[in-house]
Amino acid sequence: MIAHIHDATLELVQGDITEQEVDVLVNAANRHLAGGAGADGAIHSRGGPAIMRETRRRYPEGCPTGSAVISEAGGLPAKYVLHAVGPIWNDGQEQEAELLANAHRKCLELAVEKDCDSIAFPAISTGVYGYPIDQAARVALKEVIQFLNEHGKPGLVRFVLFDSRAFSQFAQVLGELVEAIT
Ligand code: ADP
Repeated sequence: MIAHIHDATLELVQGDITEQEVDVLVNAANRHLAGGAGADGAIHSRGGPAIMRETRRRYPEGCPTGSAVISEAGGLPAKYVLHAVGPIWNDGQEQEAELLANAHRKCLELAVEKDCDSIAFPAISTGVYGYPIDQAARVALKEVIQFLNEHGKPGLVRFVLFDSRAFSQFAQVLGELVEAIT
């Protein structure tokens, strides 16, 4: 599913984040940048140990929730990995939406700063962190659309949804937010 926002393309696909050939892959990391299950585990296992060596050296304090830090991409088919830390869902009582939006915006800012024209996001916070997928989709897509409306880049923003349920939730929300082409 594709939507055009100014000169940029916003795309939804079902698949594996580690297989995306884009300039920047986003990792759904944790505050300690310690690796984990889900997208994080897949990125470190396919990217190799160089990624964690670099994040340990450059970011010994980890990364705050609602932000992101950059590293090389090791063996992954990308130039960089952005380790984005989404919030843990707690019934929406702890600024989760704002923190999730901030994490997405920080990734887009870092991508543009590094002259990267394509970026792929997983559905941050919707796995182990328990964020309801429909609500996460609305926050993530709104933030990306707003950024693309303001900046007109990166040229390609792709959400990579791991299963058909996540894909259809994102597709429904995108359809509500913009005129999208299926
Ligand atoms: P978080 O801790 O931020 O919730 P997870 O990695 O547990 O992060 O989950 C985030 C989302 O990524 C979930 O929707 C999960 O289904 C999905 N996911 C898991 N593995 C992959 C993968 N290899 N590629 C893309 N998405 C994945």
